[in-house]
Amino acid sequence: MGSLSLDIENMNVTNEHKDKLEKSEETTSRFKQFKRRISIKGIKRSLSRESSSPTSPPPSLEENGNVDICATQGRLESYKKICRLGEGSYATVYKAHSITNTNQIVALKEIHLQEEEGAPFTAIREASLLKKLKHANIVRLHDIIHTKKSLTFVFEYVNTDLNTHLENQGGSLHPSNVCLFLFQLLRGLDFCHRQLILHRDLKPQNILISENGELKLADFGLARAKSIPSKTYSHEVVTLWYRPPDVLLGSKDYSIQLDMWGVGCIFVEMITGQALFPGMKDFKDQLERIFKTLGTPTEQSWPGVSSLRYYKEACVKSYRQKSLRTSIPKLCKIPWAAELAEQLLQMDPKRRIDTKVSMLHQYFSSLPPSVHSLPHTSSIYNIPSLVYRPEPSNNN
Ligand code: AMP
Repeated sequence: MGSLSLDIENMNVTNEHKDKLEKSEETTSRFKQFKRRISIKGIKRSLSRESSSPTSPPPSLEENGNVDICATQGRLESYKKICRLGEGSYATVYKAHSITNTNQIVALKEIHLQEEEGAPFTAIREASLLKKLKHANIVRLHDIIHTKKSLTFVFEYVNTDLNTHLENQGGSLHPSNVCLFLFQLLRGLDFCHRQLILHRDLKPQNILISENGELKLADFGLARAKSIPSKTYSHEVVTLWYRPPDVLLGSKDYSIQLDMWGVGCIFVEMITGQALFPGMKDFKDQLERIFKTLGTPTEQSWPGVSSLRYYKEACVKSYRQKSLRTSIPKLCKIPWAAELAEQLLQMDPKRRIDTKVSMLHQYFSSLPPSVHSLPHTSSIYNIPSLVYRPEPSNNN
C-alpha cells in the first residue's frame, strides 16, 4: 500500500517529472485494485493513530501503510446541517454550523460509502492534495470525519461560487472586480503549480467567492493522472467548456497549460457574462466552437497538431485564423485584457503563458507591487489600496 500513497503524491506533476510517473500512471487496472484496498479499516487506522497520540507527528506514508489523510478527527454530531448547497462530482455539499466551535459556519462535503468499496479514490485524492495547500485563495479543509457510512470533509464556508455569482449579476462583472478575481485565481493556481499540482477541472462552479470578494479554488477531486474522465463518479458528464484543444484532440502530454486555458475561458466569461465556448454535444462540437472563434489549427500555426489522435476526425472544416479580439470586441474596451486573454488562449499549449507570467502582465499594472510579495495565507485585501466593491445587485 506504500506504493498507493506514492501514486497519489505523484499524480499531480508536470512534464519534467513524467519519467518518474510512467510506472505509476499505467495504472488503470492497478487503480481498481487500489480502490478495493483503500478500505474503511485503513482510513480508521490512520485517523485513530493520529488521535490516540496528539503530540506525536502524524504517521508517514510508509508508517501509515495506507493513505495519509492527515487532518484532525472530528465528530459528525459536532455539526448541524442548515441546507444543501449543491451536488459535486462525487459528493453532496451542505451548509452547516459547528455546535462546539462558537457556531462557526462550515461546508460539509459528504460522501456515502459502501463498506466493502471503501472511500472513493477521488475523495482520498482531494484530501491528500488539500492538506498540502494552505493558501488564501484555496478553500481550507478544516477536518475529515469518517463513520461507517460516510466520509465527510469539513471545509471553510464560502458564500457563493463564480457561476452563481455571474448568474446573479445577469451578465458581466465590473472590470475592476474581474481584475481582482483573476489575480486571486492566478495566485491560488500559482501556489498549486509551484507544488506541481494541477487543478484539471477549473470552471466557475469550482471557484468560490466570498461576500468580501475573496476568491478560493475548490474541488481538487478530478486532479488525476493522464486521463481526464468524461464522467464523474456519479456518471454526471464533466463539462468540456473549459478544456483546451490539445486535450480535446487527444493529447495526453499536458501539464500546467491545461489549467491556463481554463483561466483564459473564465477571464473572458467574467468580462462578457457569457461562457466563451459552450459546447452542447461532444468533443467535436466543443472543438468546432473553438475553431470558429480562433481558426482551425494547421501545422504552420501549431507544429505537431496533425499528429494528435483526433486531428483528422475533428479538424474537417477549415475555419480562417482569427484573433480573439476580432471575435470578442468587448475585450478591447479594457486596457490589456485582449492581450492577456490571447496569451492564455493559445491553441498550441507551448505558446500558452503560465501563472507567473500572467500575474506580471500589463493588465495587472493597476495593482500595487506588494500583491506579489504577500505571505501565502494573506488575502490581497490586506493591502489597504485594494478594495472590493460589490456589483450593483440584480437578483442578489
Ligand atoms: P464541489 O463538490 O466542490 O464541486 O461542490 C459542489 C457545489 O457546492 C459548488 O458548486 C458550490 O456551489 C458548493 N460548495 C462547494 N464547496 C463549498 C464551500 N466550501 N462553501 C460553500 N459552498 C460550497
